[in-house]
Amino acid sequence: MAVIRNASKVAMAGDPRRRIPRTDSVLADPRVVVAAEGADRAVAKAAVVAAQERAREGRIAPEEVVAAAVSALAVGPRRVINATGVLVHTNLGRAPLSPAAVEAMEAAAGCTDVEFDLVAGERARRGRTVMAALAAAVPEAQDVHVVNNNAAALVLAATALAAGREIVISRGEMVEIGDGFRLPDLLESTGARLREVGTTNRTNARDYADAVGDDTGFVLKVHPSNFRVEGFTAAASVAELRALPVPVVVDVGSGLLGPEPLLPEEPDVRTVLRSGAALVTASGDKLLGGPQAGLILGRADLVHRLRRHPLARALRVDKLTLAALEATLRSEPPVRLALHADIEDLEHRARRLADRLTRGSPDGHGDLRGGGVECGVVSSVSVVGGGGAPGRELASVALALPVRLALPLRLGEPAVVGRVVGGRLLLDLRSVPPHQDDELARAALACT
Ligand SMILES: *Cc1c(COP(=O)(O)O)cnc(C)c1O
Repeated sequence: MAVIRNASKVAMAGDPRRRIPRTDSVLADPRVVVAAEGADRAVAKAAVVAAQERAREGRIAPEEVVAAAVSALAVGPRRVINATGVLVHTNLGRAPLSPAAVEAMEAAAGCTDVEFDLVAGERARRGRTVMAALAAAVPEAQDVHVVNNNAAALVLAATALAAGREIVISRGEMVEIGDGFRLPDLLESTGARLREVGTTNRTNARDYADAVGDDTGFVLKVHPSNFRVEGFTAAASVAELRALPVPVVVDVGSGLLGPEPLLPEEPDVRTVLRSGAALVTASGDKLLGGPQAGLILGRADLVHRLRRHPLARALRVDKLTLAALEATLRSEPPVRLALHADIEDLEHRARRLADRLTRGSPDGHGDLRGGGVECGVVSSVSVVGGGGAPGRELASVALALPVRLALPLRLGEPAVVGRVVGGRLLLDLRSVPPHQDDELARAALACT
């Protein structure tokens, strides 16, 4: 035994692994002590042991163990490369912001003129430049208002226009938006009563007309943005309902401001307003590609009532959201670029990346044969996601990697999240902005 131990000591002489610091000394390092503040001792120890393990495997230098442990103990959100092929992935924070939006948020992070007129030197209407940008993008809207999210927009409309009264809604549009939240429950929580009309698959204009009366606050149409009903179906169009003596409120969900040729079945704000909707609500962080927000657009008198309702103050968006939203409206956000990405460009990126990964050359230069990873290029199918266009498949291209890389990629910096299909890890490039290709290659090679 002793002989073997000595032999291995000899073999390790000059081995960098001998310089890996001991667990207790790493735990006592002041930087680790600070990072582990408030954390369980077991959690801190696990982070240190994992960092030592990475050093033992040669993936980091022994001198980097402390930094790796500190990084593992870091609190706050982690950066993720979305290679799932789901363009608007709710669990990954929905729409990634455009560089312009990030820049605008940075500018607004300190003190800013969100509610101040620098020319006049006095108070001004909050977020007026965003409202102007929205009004310019949707000339059909007489007025616009922005709240925390689309759910908040619906709550505000229901409270201000129908509390104690009825909202007429089709049985086919009683939607669960996700994580167990159901729009009917949300609407009833405001004190409005739901008057259900029609059936799950068929509701016509007559059903609405028969239900509307003195007690009706408004008619609500909700776009089924996360499911599809096929077969023997019928739904009343906004144009058919516009003649009703009550406002027609339409929840389009996705946040498309104008028609999107690639998603012909997805409703958009401008078209819906033109067909006669009194109010439209939409999310800011789905196909609009901006920050979480709820947009309310339409008739001036109704938007005014919503904006002046006491509840509006509780649903107000902060200056960072306003800054990001305005910049989103003035730029081409990543979600739209991903939606429009050309399949040949995706193939080209995939082949280049596969070549770099196979050769073990993260930056494409130099040939580090032997350090690469087995990587193929396969066709794939992307989807918009919970953000809209259910059932619409978008042709895409993916890198196919050994499935054993799935976990280390998720734990990397940045984390990379793909999909495991048929025993392989697929990294779908449609949901990855091209500027992240280098990082993706480095992350994948760091796991080999
Ligand atoms: C997503 C969605 C909502 C909820 O919007 P949030 O911005 O997440 O609050 C409501 N209605 C429809 C039709 C949706 O698609």
